[in-house]
Amino acid sequence: PSAEAGLYTASDQIVLLTQENVESVLINSTAAMIVEFYASWCGHCVAFSPTYKALARDIKEWKPAVDLAAVDCADQENREVCKTYKVRGYPTIQFFHAYSKPDYEGLPFRDFSRNVQDLRHKILDKLETHGEPWPPACPPLEPTSQMEVDVFFETNDVKHLALIFEDATSYVGREVTLDLLQFDSIAVRRVLNTEESLVTKLGVTEFPSCYLYYPGGNFTRLRVDIEARAFYSYALQRLPGVVRSGKPPPVSTELLKNNTEDPWRPFDKFRVYMADLESTLHYSLRVELGAQSVFQGRALTSLKAYISVLAKYFPGRPIVTNLLKDLNSWLQKQTGDRISYEAFKEKLENDAQSPNSTLPDGVRWVGCQGSQPHFRRYPCGVWTLFHVLTVQANSKGSDPQEVLRAMRSYVHNFFGCRECAGHFENMAAETLEQVTSLPTAVLWLWSRHNVVNNRLAGALSEDPQFPKIQWPPPDMCSACHAVKDNGEHTWNLTEVLKFLLTYFSSDRILTDYLE
Ligand code: FAD
Repeated sequence: PSAEAGLYTASDQIVLLTQENVESVLINSTAAMIVEFYASWCGHCVAFSPTYKALARDIKEWKPAVDLAAVDCADQENREVCKTYKVRGYPTIQFFHAYSKPDYEGLPFRDFSRNVQDLRHKILDKLETHGEPWPPACPPLEPTSQMEVDVFFETNDVKHLALIFEDATSYVGREVTLDLLQFDSIAVRRVLNTEESLVTKLGVTEFPSCYLYYPGGNFTRLRVDIEARAFYSYALQRLPGVVRSGKPPPVSTELLKNNTEDPWRPFDKFRVYMADLESTLHYSLRVELGAQSVFQGRALTSLKAYISVLAKYFPGRPIVTNLLKDLNSWLQKQTGDRISYEAFKEKLENDAQSPNSTLPDGVRWVGCQGSQPHFRRYPCGVWTLFHVLTVQANSKGSDPQEVLRAMRSYVHNFFGCRECAGHFENMAAETLEQVTSLPTAVLWLWSRHNVVNNRLAGALSEDPQFPKIQWPPPDMCSACHAVKDNGEHTWNLTEVLKFLLTYFSSDRILTDYLE
């Protein structure tokens, strides 16, 4: 709990070191560890923390080989830790190789700059000079040769070998190698432009570029929009047969039919379905809110704000919007300091009986179907609902934070997944105040959703049929992606906004499968 008061929380994918766990984390770890020693009162540390968090997201896939930790030296309870490692200035970053012994003090990062790319390169430099024992999960990082490639498939049980051709100063090959570390059936190696026999054999003229190499010596160029790390990693993680370690391979929709008790409803992965939005409303209003017996204080304010944004912005069928509007005007008229769920429900069900207003009872997931009953569904619906609402508010609203505040307090007070609620509240507390216009509200929710996707990629809750990705991927919106002069991936926010406003717009929502 003391670590929570520091600059990082459990949502940041950074191991929070304390006196209690320092030995179990640092000593004999199978992964190399990077540790930031900081003091929560130090201005430089506060200024550096967003970079360190961004680094953690950027190299999330590398965790089995190299992981990030942080310790707050301002916390009394951690004094011994910082003393043991002889830390005097903040922030200090040290590299601990895998299988470190208790007396090992770590290798300091000298003159590190406050940018993710430089830090990532420094980590690769340190990893590459890592002596024995090498972190077992870390693939070889040195350049490969014709000789090695010739016998590659005899000694490696993989379907694909990706070769990244580049010059000696480029880090892309090593970065992609580590980005693919948690995926089966594929290996990635870098090839230097000076490795003449391979360069000539494959006819490589562009550096970097990526080729897929097969047993028997066949090869093809990997087609990507831009020759850069993010594009290679995304494309390679999606090659046929490549799956995240420990996850079952994707199956056909034929097989999916047998996994779920509901009949599988074929759908277009690139569209929003009204059936999901109505199912979400049903579940939220009748089941999730039903877990409350009374609404009072903040919960009551939260309920009113939620129903109010639904009444204003839900782009549904007239019968459904009639019900929401009626429910809203009733709710806003309630002046008491508490409302029972029973009273709320009575009003809801009464409205649902009337000839021109209803909310279908029960769920009928379509775009939010999961390959197993415990995947996707309601949380998918909640995200979709609020994306749609921010997009509606963009053309109809005036208060930039109205929808997001309603979402924040709904999630905080009512969302059944309490861990999710805690994470979401952390993000909202950090950055929601920065939303000052309606378009930035749309973009805020999109970017926070991607932070959650990053954190959950590979988690148990991930449906193997619907892997968590940074969304929209290049094959959905190519113009949304770009690279900076230094080769780092960046989003073209103008294009992303354009994409979101279209993707979630009311006139594109499909009405298939509605009752
Ligand atoms: P979802 O992430 O639910 O996304 C639904 C659909 O939205 C996708 O299919 C895609 O079409 C689209 N989409 C994806 N990314 C974006 C984006 N960036 N912007 C716009 N649209 C996008 N689960 C946990 O295990 N731990 C948590 O801490 C956690 N926190 C959550 C917090 C909130 C507020 C919510 C609503 C859910 C949270 N969940 C959490 C659940 C998790 O985020 C997913 O909703 C769930 O795992 C189902 O995933 P999915 O594959 O259906 O995709």
